[in-house]
Amino acid sequence: MHKEVSQSLTTTMNPYEIAVAQFDAAADKLNLSPDLREVLRYPKRELTVHFPVRMDDGYIRMFTGYRVQHNVNRGPAKGGIRYSPDVTLDEVKALAMWMTWKCAVVDIPYGGAKGGVVCDPKHMSKAELERLTRRYATEIAVLIGPKSDIPAPDVNTNAQVMAWIMDTISMHEGYSVPAVVTGKPLAIGGSEGRNEATATGVLYVIRRAAEYLGMDLKGARVAVQGFGNAGSNVARFLHNEGCRIVALSDTQGGIYNERGLDPQQVLRHKQERGTVVGFANAQRVTNAEVLEVPCDILVPAATENQITGQNAERVQARMIAEAANGPTTPDADRIFYQRGVFVIPDILANAGGVTVSYFEWVQDIQSFFWTREEIAERLEHVMNRAFKAVLDKANMYNVDMRTAAYMLAVSRVAEATQLRGIYP
Ligand code: NAD
Repeated sequence: MHKEVSQSLTTTMNPYEIAVAQFDAAADKLNLSPDLREVLRYPKRELTVHFPVRMDDGYIRMFTGYRVQHNVNRGPAKGGIRYSPDVTLDEVKALAMWMTWKCAVVDIPYGGAKGGVVCDPKHMSKAELERLTRRYATEIAVLIGPKSDIPAPDVNTNAQVMAWIMDTISMHEGYSVPAVVTGKPLAIGGSEGRNEATATGVLYVIRRAAEYLGMDLKGARVAVQGFGNAGSNVARFLHNEGCRIVALSDTQGGIYNERGLDPQQVLRHKQERGTVVGFANAQRVTNAEVLEVPCDILVPAATENQITGQNAERVQARMIAEAANGPTTPDADRIFYQRGVFVIPDILANAGGVTVSYFEWVQDIQSFFWTREEIAERLEHVMNRAFKAVLDKANMYNVDMRTAAYMLAVSRVAEATQLRGIYP
């Protein structure tokens, strides 16, 4: 089965097939029993909803949304919601499975879920987005809740969207339910440090990887693909760390300057013009070229399937830190392993976001809030512990970091599944 899937994914690059192939590779290494393998390959629940939204012009438009829960044996399902014209059920299924492994890698008591709505938020008004969000939240209310499934922001969703979901569910219940979503604004039960948690976690694992590789971060050249929540904050933090940010990009294209770019200035430019493109003193490059510029660290922070068997040979970085989910395909992974490129896989690298989401949920349930310093300290502890556990496994089994992270995660989820047994 594993080989069949590997064969087809090079042609289809279906994210769910890739996720299953990655799981199968770890299951092979772990000699996982056929029973457990069968259980863990499938999502537990897949909900597709079609719902009407009244647009500003008075007409009604139908939208399609998804919520998928992959596995809940270690705790309630957890995972973001993305708004994008390209969202598909297979993408959401892959992302839900990756969330199961991610929560297990950092050892927080959650299973994996993901949601998405097929829409183009760039061409919708704020009022339309609010109506869409409230109706989508209502449609998936059969699944979500503080004890069952807790959404969070992802591509094109943010703290405001989470506030609307929290309010919608609270209206249904008749009292405030802050713990139903994380990534909320601070004023309604959000956590200190959540907004930049993903990037902070990426920074912590890059520090550990640089120590391991003997790479000096001062002056290290960095290219970042995607300049949203994850990418812009990673660029800013690495710039503060003394790295030279040589290339940045968004959907419109990329910019390059071998002497370095100031991410704060680029952010101001993006806020004014809506894109990083056109930034002064930088050469315009294509999105593909951003991945291939001379650099020491590459941070993909956009979407899936960006680094494939087609372009992996041309990637010049020594270290790749996956802020995005699923940016590297398995055939690219093989090339990196052969070339000795150190890949910090998504389920480890970007787990800072879900870790601080977990802290936010715990604080909401207890109605007792922690300081920014407490959050940072606890996050650093979790990321360092997970990095060390994955690195130790990679060295012990002589495998790449992704396989090691999967082995760690799958064995934890398999143990919980085995202990709980099959109902009835
Ligand atoms: P975002 O919407 O804030 O930003 C996405 C950015 O990527 C935008 O700048 C967009 O222009 C750019 N982009 C999209 N497609 C691109 C392409 N093909 N080439 C170059 N740029 C492109 O989203 P985000 O929250 O920063 O998420 C980015 C990635 O990080 C996603 O894979 C997401 O799943 C992952 N992630 C996010 C979080 C989080 O807490 N926000 C946590 C874990 C993982």
